[in-house]
Amino acid sequence: MNGEMIPWENATVHVMSHALHYGSSVFEGIRCYETSKGRCIFRLGAHIKRLFDSAKLYRYAVPYSAAEIEQGCRDSVVKNELKSAYIRPLLFLGEGSIGVVPDDSISINVIIASMEFGSYLGEEGLKNGIDVCISSWARTTSASLPILSKAGGHYLNAQLIGGEARRNGFAEGISVTARGTVSEGSAENIFVIRDGKLYTPPLSAAILNGITRDSAMTLANHLGYEVIEQEIPRELLYVADELFFTGTAAEVTPIRSVDGIEVGSGSRGPITEAIQTAFFGLFNGETQDEWGWLDSVEKSASVLSS
Ligand code: PMP
Repeated sequence: MNGEMIPWENATVHVMSHALHYGSSVFEGIRCYETSKGRCIFRLGAHIKRLFDSAKLYRYAVPYSAAEIEQGCRDSVVKNELKSAYIRPLLFLGEGSIGVVPDDSISINVIIASMEFGSYLGEEGLKNGIDVCISSWARTTSASLPILSKAGGHYLNAQLIGGEARRNGFAEGISVTARGTVSEGSAENIFVIRDGKLYTPPLSAAILNGITRDSAMTLANHLGYEVIEQEIPRELLYVADELFFTGTAAEVTPIRSVDGIEVGSGSRGPITEAIQTAFFGLFNGETQDEWGWLDSVEKSASVLSS
């Protein structure tokens, strides 16, 4: 927290923290895997770059370098003695002013927490697919918020989408834009497979530019599949051959039904499985990491005091 290694119980904030009142924070969710080459953080550099972009879009100055935050992530995994982990770097506005528009008196804080984390949508879901619905809540678009920023306040929309879905017995909800085109899950990007080609909504469909999305696109191309970024009408989901979600938490999760309508054969499809296998292969050593995506936790000495 703010450059120091402190125990969990001391990692507290004041009730007058700006972020608590107005959602003024930006963050990342990153996974560390136990791989055939030791503990590795998946695409750490890309996540920290996105953290800086998220801060820039709200004009928050990050009080550390990218290298310092990256090292903080590695240190946090080491200090917690985790084999695999979910890592949460967060920048938030703290005390200083009650005004909605933060002034120069506001404190900017950075914390990095790491914890154990299994599969987000369930082991069963990874194998057989999950049941999802289209949300009655539209995705907030770039007309109202800089949606490419992974900002705390944006997740009120995600809470409504994911919460409604779960209350109605679905594993996840998919949001559409105000124009009715597919956007994404509450914390996942979505891919549609039809006639052997992959389709995914473009950044202009109010999506987060997912790092797992980018990885899946790269792996799909590597396997010889064409991936097309284009606007997707809601109804294409019901007649897709295969659908899957991508996300740091969700990894690559097949979708077997949408609004009770079976997708394709109603279970994980062959192209989804190929991409899943290539993705998890990065960690078990079966997929060559040609892109330098695995960042070794052990690689360098700490820059933080402990
Ligand atoms: N969309 C939203 C809204 C998310 O919160 C996430 C999770 N960060 C994603 C998509 C997937 O992004 P990534 O693959 O970078 O985790």
